[in-house]
Amino acid sequence: MTDVLIVGAGPAGLFLASELRLAGVDTVVVERHPRRPDHCRGFTLNARALDLLARRGLADRLISEGWQAPQAAFSGLPVTLSLAGARTDHPYTLGIPQTRVEEVLEAHARDLGADIRRGHELLTLDQDAESVIPTIGTEDGEYPVRAAYLVGCDGGRSTVRKQAGIDFPGTEATRFSLLGDVEFAESEALPYGVTTGPAGAVLVIPRPGYVRIVTSDPQPPANKDTPVTLDLLQTAVDQALGRHVALRAARWLTRFGNAARQAAQYVRDRVILAGDAAHIHPPAGAIGVNVALDDAFNLGWKLAATVHGTAPSHLLDSYHEERHAVGAHVLASTRAQMLLGDADDRLEPLTDLLTRVATHPAGNRAFAEIVTGLDTCYDMRPDTTHPWLGRLAPNLILGTRAGDTDIATLLAAGRGLLIDLTNGSAIRESAAGWADRVDIVDATCPDHPELRAMFLRPDGHTAWLHTAEHENTDNLPRALQHWYGPAGHPVTGASAHTFR
Ligand SMILES: Cc1cc2nc3c(=O)[nH]c(=O)nc-3n(C[C@H](O)[C@H](O)[C@H](O)COP(=O)(O)OP(=O)(O)OC[C@H]3O[C@@H](n4cnc5c(N)ncnc54)[C@H](O)[C@@H]3O)c2cc1C
Repeated sequence: MTDVLIVGAGPAGLFLASELRLAGVDTVVVERHPRRPDHCRGFTLNARALDLLARRGLADRLISEGWQAPQAAFSGLPVTLSLAGARTDHPYTLGIPQTRVEEVLEAHARDLGADIRRGHELLTLDQDAESVIPTIGTEDGEYPVRAAYLVGCDGGRSTVRKQAGIDFPGTEATRFSLLGDVEFAESEALPYGVTTGPAGAVLVIPRPGYVRIVTSDPQPPANKDTPVTLDLLQTAVDQALGRHVALRAARWLTRFGNAARQAAQYVRDRVILAGDAAHIHPPAGAIGVNVALDDAFNLGWKLAATVHGTAPSHLLDSYHEERHAVGAHVLASTRAQMLLGDADDRLEPLTDLLTRVATHPAGNRAFAEIVTGLDTCYDMRPDTTHPWLGRLAPNLILGTRAGDTDIATLLAAGRGLLIDLTNGSAIRESAAGWADRVDIVDATCPDHPELRAMFLRPDGHTAWLHTAEHENTDNLPRALQHWYGPAGHPVTGASAHTFR
């Protein structure tokens, strides 16, 4: 028995496990692979992902190990997107292997007490009114688990999604690429970046001791799972360039397509989806890890409150509402990038127009914020028009009785946060009924003298604001009740599970 069973120890599953453990939820993670794969899929974290990780104290370590590029890219447009001036505390893209990110997340989740079981594969999934009952297969046989909730973080081909009967509508892959982590037989046989030949293009990405090659798959087999061989990649590269460039020492060979699909429901009864299990999209913008982390961050505190029986009834559904909308934007943005990359004359006027927009400083910033998710803004039923409402709150420096601190540090405990800058008692008094669930901090904020108070959800998104211009104290109890349920009387019953 466990409160939550997470299927899949990729970025989504591992980050979610930490978030649940932070809130004291019993969490088991099952991962079918006995050990982490030797190959690495992604190599980047974007500004939004770093902002989120920073709110749990996880960013600095990764930043110290990676390399920073102060820009983002919108494939298909010949314009660099500057992150200078974007609404982020980390105005750069961090180069860091996905495998390293996963190592750090796994260590963190284990430190917090997550039970991570490698070599354990979800085989089947049953549900009754009170629990989910999956069967887990291991080398030594099968065993059943009973969990109050089950989260499928098991990637694009999610068994959980299929077993739960959740539709995955979208568009089929129309094009495939071959990827190889290889060495050139002759050093620097091709430059880094894109080399265009008479029949296609080859992308070369430098890696320590090898290169990553990506080129079109000229004749994808009927069964797309047919293994890619070095010979096949060699033929495709030579064909694209119209000359022989000898490759050797393949470390990883794979094929990927441009399918775009999104789960119709992120939450179905006691089964929930996050990360690639909930959405797959073309690889443009290298955003998959980042969106997976973002899903987990949004879900963690909501699922924890639901498990503890303190959540208002709509809270878990708000995960679907908020993240399905973001996922749809990611699909649209990545598909648009793929389209613009098409050699289609009809797209030229559109490319020209978008290039002009992206060259304009305001347009450039808008594109940068869209492709990195920095434009993420959740609906807080606005009662003010303050630009921070619904957005990830900036990491303000605050003075407190205990000394200087900042918002990211105060959020590290994973609880809601009410910052009171009024030096009075009215705010604290009107929030007193929620003090068991929300940290109330008296502070000063010299950088924002107009700010009086703000309430942040555990995911750092601003749910209520009170400023000199936006007088708003009456709405604080309403905001607290919306996200935490009634004052002093946590909701119990329907949403609480029965194992405690
Ligand atoms: C070639 C390539 C390059 C990429 N580059 C980037 C990049 O630069 N930046 C970026 O942000 N994204 C990149 N991505 C995308 C990124 O790798 C994924 O979006 C990301 O890993 C999704 O995380 P996840 O946790 O949702 O799923 P995954 O990382 O896929 O994790 C799912 C886990 O579930 C496990 N699993 C599956 N089924 C079961 C089961 N039945 N029982 C138990 N365990 C199971 C799997 O073994 C796996 O470990 C790239 C992807 C590819 C293929």
